[in-house]
Amino acid sequence: MTTTATTSTNVFSRPAARFVAGGLNIRASALGQCRRALWYTATEQPVTNPPESESLTLLEAGNALEPVVVRAMRRAGWRVTPADRADPQSVTVEASPGLTVTGHPDATGCPPSEGGAAAAVEQFLFGDAEPNSPNEDIVIEVKTRGPEAFKRWRTLGAERSHPESVAQAACYSLGVFGECRDVVIATLDTGSRTWDYEEIPAARAERAWRNASVRIEALAEHHALNGPDPEALPERDFTALDWQCKRCPYLNLCQPGGAGEAQDDGEQTEPVSDGQARQALREYEQAQARIKSLETDKRGALKTLQHWLQRKGETKAKLEGSDKTRTVGMVTSRRYSVDHTRLNALLGPEQRAEIVTEQVSEYLRVS
Ligand code: SF4
Repeated sequence: MTTTATTSTNVFSRPAARFVAGGLNIRASALGQCRRALWYTATEQPVTNPPESESLTLLEAGNALEPVVVRAMRRAGWRVTPADRADPQSVTVEASPGLTVTGHPDATGCPPSEGGAAAAVEQFLFGDAEPNSPNEDIVIEVKTRGPEAFKRWRTLGAERSHPESVAQAACYSLGVFGECRDVVIATLDTGSRTWDYEEIPAARAERAWRNASVRIEALAEHHALNGPDPEALPERDFTALDWQCKRCPYLNLCQPGGAGEAQDDGEQTEPVSDGQARQALREYEQAQARIKSLETDKRGALKTLQHWLQRKGETKAKLEGSDKTRTVGMVTSRRYSVDHTRLNALLGPEQRAEIVTEQVSEYLRVS
């Protein structure tokens, strides 16, 4: 494996995949993308489903918030050297013969040493230099996620929720340091504007890199076999029902009518007119108002009962209800929380999958 590190100003606008002398080059941030979509990009096929303005705004907002995360990390005692956004360092790593991966690390640095956070806040307030840490530098990959994705990442760990970002950070580690060190994924929740991080040990980061490389190697082999032929398409990695296809810029090229068919599959009920939907919404609003008023009455009655119990000096008492005698009593409840950051650092993704399971449910929200 060979690695190179250069600087370039147009690194942010590089395509996700392109043919270069000696093979195929993939952008590090595109390691998890559909291989057929990468092929379309490399063979310069026209985009049929450009991203909507809202998606681009979201993307730009995420990029703009990355320096905010870096500053928050510094205040928490981290030593962080962010990329020069005007002239970022670009690294290229050879994943296998005929396949290179290129990208630009967000930052390098290391977590605070013992007591570093307090010292850092002091230094931040009084304008002193950054705190020092005796640890060696590692790659820090900065992400911004919406509240749901943030929760999923924190609970499941990056290797399960976003394995491509771990592979990306591992690739940068190889490019910057010539070895796969521990890596850090620092993530900002764009809803609550809180941030957290996960440190992934070197061995696990290297495994994520190997897994991603093996997946992309199949595309390099496809290239070696067919040359840069736009007609020789690799298999699809996803179906029209997957979010990857729904957001794919080549959806209509890859699956003409696919998105529509996918929607039709799910439509097994009678069509509902706009008027019926408006009526249903009004009924929902009326029901919500009734529930709210009943909840207020219920809270008021419970408060009165609690004061009655307290005045009696008891924690439990019997009282005649309208049709039976009821027990009124104080209940102590306990909540237990899991420190997912520590759990994720201690256990590999397979062990975590046995402990932290995921259930997906679907519901309709009216806001
Ligand atoms: S539409 Fe889906 S399968 Fe086709 S290239 Fe895009 S992501 Fe891949």
